[in-house]
Amino acid sequence: MGGHESDFVQEAFDTNWVAPLGPNVNGFEKDLTEYVGIKSAGALASGTAAIHLALILLGIKEEDEVICQSFTFSASANPICYQKATPIFVDSELDTWNIDPELLEQVIKNRIEKGKKPKAMIVVHLYGMPAKMDQIIGISNKYNIPIIEDAAEALGSYINNRKCGSFGKLSVLSFNGNKIITTSGGGAILSNETELIEKARFLATQARDEAPHYQHSAIGYNYRMSNILAGIGRGQMKVLDERINRRREIHQLYFNELGKTWLEVSNNTGVPKIINNSTTNIYFLKEPENYFSNRWLTTIIIDSKECDGVSREDIRLELERNNIESRPLWKPMHLQPVFKNFPHYSNKVSDWLFEKGLCLPSGSNMEKASQKRVIEIIKSVIK
Ligand SMILES: *Cc1c(COP(=O)(O)O)cnc(C)c1O
Repeated sequence: MGGHESDFVQEAFDTNWVAPLGPNVNGFEKDLTEYVGIKSAGALASGTAAIHLALILLGIKEEDEVICQSFTFSASANPICYQKATPIFVDSELDTWNIDPELLEQVIKNRIEKGKKPKAMIVVHLYGMPAKMDQIIGISNKYNIPIIEDAAEALGSYINNRKCGSFGKLSVLSFNGNKIITTSGGGAILSNETELIEKARFLATQARDEAPHYQHSAIGYNYRMSNILAGIGRGQMKVLDERINRRREIHQLYFNELGKTWLEVSNNTGVPKIINNSTTNIYFLKEPENYFSNRWLTTIIIDSKECDGVSREDIRLELERNNIESRPLWKPMHLQPVFKNFPHYSNKVSDWLFEKGLCLPSGSNMEKASQKRVIEIIKSVIK
């Protein structure tokens, strides 16, 4: 917490706004729209709820197809199944690790040939790195398929000064405990189309018609953020830029200490292959030109060359022996048992990232001495 959260929460208690809605909800929504640079925001109970409502607002229903980035957290895809629609998983490219625009267009053509045009596409900015939105928006316009932008990990990231969360027809943020700012649990749905957000708020509060009694002409949800948690959110907004600076500083220290090598990969042969050399065999994902990542998590690729053979797991297990938690990159959705029967279009990139990638401890409250310890342990393994 940054210090201002308890003021807003106290105010809610003092004014007895311990209710689902109230001034903190309105204030937090306003803060979000101003920060992201978008017309309208609805504060919700979670990012997952926001994705679910986005699908409902786009009319996604049984037998519809929805394209979804395969390399992501399962919460991007689960709501497609809540609607009994079919997720179509699409692999990533190597510059941002997000959905591959060329493959995306091939997939759309292929699905249309098979007789069904996808109804929406869920694009993710994984680990805070913005996806290739220029190209993706071009494809979205060309085929008239709306974008649901999953910016859950990318609050504060941008391309050319345009913030993540402002690219989709509908966009999604998360304030879960592990995200760059948190309300302990929460999310938001954003759009430049104010009517869509008004409809989201309506659906998120049990779809109550205007009437003195309780009357409903649609199925509703209990998805709204409470006034107490929105108070935490308002306080967190005051330290968001600080948090981003800190995460980027952490990334920079790892980069400087672990070989200073950006990942350069060719994918000409159908299997990604690193084409440059790192003295440590550790590689970092570079921001493409005009891209700014909040560096939510520092991620590394460990390429065990034949001779010394240090793998991702060697590093992860040595950290674990020292009571330090690190994690492989997200396991792609097309490799998940629960999604195995849905169509997927692979170019092997996300499989490769999952095999070689590791998320390092990156919390903004991590002290420098702790980070140095992590670095020393990693260095001891790669030597
Ligand atoms: C965290 C996350 C979500 C879901 O957000 P919740 O608030 O935890 O429901 C969705 N997509 C991605 C990529 C996430 O990292």
